[in-house]
Amino acid sequence: MEERLNRKPHCLVLVFPTQGHVNPMLQLSKRLVHKGVRVTLVASRFLCNTLQFKSTSIALESISDGFDDGGLAAAASDKAYVDRFWDVGSKTFEELLEKLTSSGDSIDCVVYDSFIPWALEVTKKFGIMGAVFFTQSCAVNSIYYHVYHRNLKIPATDDDKSEILLPALPPLASCDLPSFLYVLGPYPAFTDMVVNQFSNIEKADWVLCNSFYELEPQVADWQAKIFPLKTIGPTIPSMFLDKRLKDDDAYGFSFYNEEDEACMNWLSDKPSGSVVYVSFGSLVALDSDQMEEIAWGLNDSVSYFLWVVKESEKPKLPKDFLKISQKKGLVVTWCTQLQVLDHEAVGCFLTHCGWNSTVEALSLGVPMVAVPQWTDQPTDAKYIKDVWKIGVKAEADEKGVVRRATVKKCIEEVMQSERGKEMKKNAMKWKGVAAKACDEGGSTDKNIDDFVASLAAASTKCQ
Ligand code: UDP
Repeated sequence: MEERLNRKPHCLVLVFPTQGHVNPMLQLSKRLVHKGVRVTLVASRFLCNTLQFKSTSIALESISDGFDDGGLAAAASDKAYVDRFWDVGSKTFEELLEKLTSSGDSIDCVVYDSFIPWALEVTKKFGIMGAVFFTQSCAVNSIYYHVYHRNLKIPATDDDKSEILLPALPPLASCDLPSFLYVLGPYPAFTDMVVNQFSNIEKADWVLCNSFYELEPQVADWQAKIFPLKTIGPTIPSMFLDKRLKDDDAYGFSFYNEEDEACMNWLSDKPSGSVVYVSFGSLVALDSDQMEEIAWGLNDSVSYFLWVVKESEKPKLPKDFLKISQKKGLVVTWCTQLQVLDHEAVGCFLTHCGWNSTVEALSLGVPMVAVPQWTDQPTDAKYIKDVWKIGVKAEADEKGVVRRATVKKCIEEVMQSERGKEMKKNAMKWKGVAAKACDEGGSTDKNIDDFVASLAAASTKCQ
């Protein structure tokens, strides 16, 4: 009896297998473990086989996404992946729940990525509670919510010059919307996927979002009236924030090999605030034209640069660029981004504005040059520039390319101008607010406590 009363609540955390989605869910898992919850991470077989996931505190289980040998990259199209993951994933997830529950392993809640709403349908068949986890901002969630409810017509085009006014959001231009709503053509499967995140939200017991209350108070308040929202971010390792989880100093998971030693050695003799760090995240593939403009813009600017260029992107670098720019810059295939952003030599982040990258820079006090490419990045860029005022947006020309002169001008504005100093000041303010949100009694900490308390209450009721 005593053993049953002492039972820890048990959460299954089901991830969508990309770097930007696994990182935040893994971090929430660590916070839950820290607060006495037992966590089992559930990932695709391909991810489990690729990752060397070593954790003594988080268990690992796998399901199939239908592409056990190659994952997302092995699918013929985005649609093929999304459809097959839905089909095979829901079957194999059901088998996993069957296996675990029939062996007497009780599960109190499934936390699942919002990109896979079918997980909630499977979860509910077992009478288990479900918490949807959003890896994008509350603002972006709101926009998709309005599209799902047909309050916002898509595609939005530049022809329509009127401002888009949505509750609790700043006035938006069409080009501030997530790209799937602005240019519908190239990724129809992803458009459906992001809008369908809201297809069954009313059945979710909790709605968790990787943001923090102080960052988006109006939209968080607005959403909390509609669904049981809890902001639980920023989900970056504790040692960069509140420092309460002593061994949490890295995500501890990467699809790529980091060239950390080279980066740290190179950064170590650069003056404070003299380096622009450049990364377009794990998924973006730039056109050769865009790659070339960024390359020469970096070379022409006054700052040093550290640029992450994935192996697959390297052939697009201009001929002889590495040789020509070697005194100014270092190009690596991947790095531990948090460590780089935290380095005092780094004065600015030229970023694609992926949500993790945005939140990481903001939490580490680094101002940004926003060069958004697709998905939620244009909306993040709007907030970086106009709402949080921690960066500039590099505007593209009529062909959609950000030219070298713009790259140079934007870097110099952030690194050297009076406005740049304001941006740095604002970024440092957000750094403090982010750490406070995660620290004991902060908004995020309280929300995680509430979530854990309701899990514990539910788990006691089941005994
Ligand atoms: N990242 C990294 N090293 C790199 C580039 C990126 O560790 O060289 C990490 C970064 O810290 C972030 C994630 O990869 O956590 C990228 O997520 P984001 O949402 O910014 O972009 P996505 O890859 O999903 O487009």
